[in-house]
Amino acid sequence: MAKKLFIPGPVNVSSEVFAAMSQPMIGHRMKEYAELHGRVKANLKKLMMTESRVFLATSSAFGVMEGAVRNLVKGRCANFCNGAFSDKWHDVTKRCGKEADAFKVPWGQPVTAELVDSALTTGKYDCITLIHNETSTGVLSPLPEIAEVLRKYPDVVSIIDTVSSMSAMSIPLDELGIDCCIFGVQKAFALPPGLAVFTATEKALERAKKVENRGYYFDFMEFATNDDKDNTPSTPCISLIYGLDCQLARFFEEGLDARWSRHLKMAEKTRRWAKELGFELFAPEGARSITLTSVINSRDIDLAAIKKNLGDKGYAFDDGYGKIKGQTFRIAHMGDMQPEELDEFLSVLGLEIR
Ligand SMILES: *Cc1c(COP(=O)(O)O)cnc(C)c1O
Repeated sequence: MAKKLFIPGPVNVSSEVFAAMSQPMIGHRMKEYAELHGRVKANLKKLMMTESRVFLATSSAFGVMEGAVRNLVKGRCANFCNGAFSDKWHDVTKRCGKEADAFKVPWGQPVTAELVDSALTTGKYDCITLIHNETSTGVLSPLPEIAEVLRKYPDVVSIIDTVSSMSAMSIPLDELGIDCCIFGVQKAFALPPGLAVFTATEKALERAKKVENRGYYFDFMEFATNDDKDNTPSTPCISLIYGLDCQLARFFEEGLDARWSRHLKMAEKTRRWAKELGFELFAPEGARSITLTSVINSRDIDLAAIKKNLGDKGYAFDDGYGKIKGQTFRIAHMGDMQPEELDEFLSVLGLEIR
């Protein structure tokens, strides 16, 4: 029996998307592909409120997270770390042979504008990496405030991961001034895994031009050249791009405001539910994710047993990530999830816990 996914990615994929993905195959150098690519790109720009270049890469998010540091770090990178994915990104930056420092805050806390300012004021860095919504901890960092600080440092290129936030809330890239925004599609976008999207401003492309050893597969210059023809450097995951085309149309059909408020309402509902059952939330007020809720296992319940029982009933439950496994559990409410589906899950989970 296929389980209904309440884990923070991959998430449930609609039958409409699966149907769109089963369209007949086309060649990526055929005009049919350029039309598809062009339409998807235009809709992504509308969603992200940007005039920057938007590229499609066939990989999971980490492919482009690695590609971005290979392309954009010329001197030294400041990696802001507040969870498993951002900690890993620092490791990845160094593995790419880049000079980099980690600015760590405790798991469960947001990266603050003050921290970013104190790092950049040293003048040591020409690039930063930041995860908007740390999926491992359910923490949302204050991107508008951080973006305000970044304005003071026009020579610094910002790489922002929005894997579990893009489309669930308003993230107007140009207004914020984000140079390179990255996301994979298996979380907030509710597509099957295997496709990543990234943007690059002219400033980012100028930087990439001057950086050596960009490799080939994620070379931003290759992407820019092919983008002029609505194309990709190598063969893309065309079926997934059909799915993305369908999903973007569905976003606009629902309405972005409606989509954002659906997510906010589900987050509020989940937070209330957790408190009613006597749990504390892992993230502090004001830094709580709207696509997943991370709950402290303050009642010391047997999460592994609950995961198994729920699995038998057809629900996939998450009992925490990395070093906080067992101490926290995460409830995802992202993608296409409807409030009624969340209600059903919360009541089943509530019965297990009680
Ligand atoms: C899941 C996730 C990643 C890693 O994504 P992959 O697609 O597995 O490479 C990176 N960043 C965030 C915020 C994530 O949630």
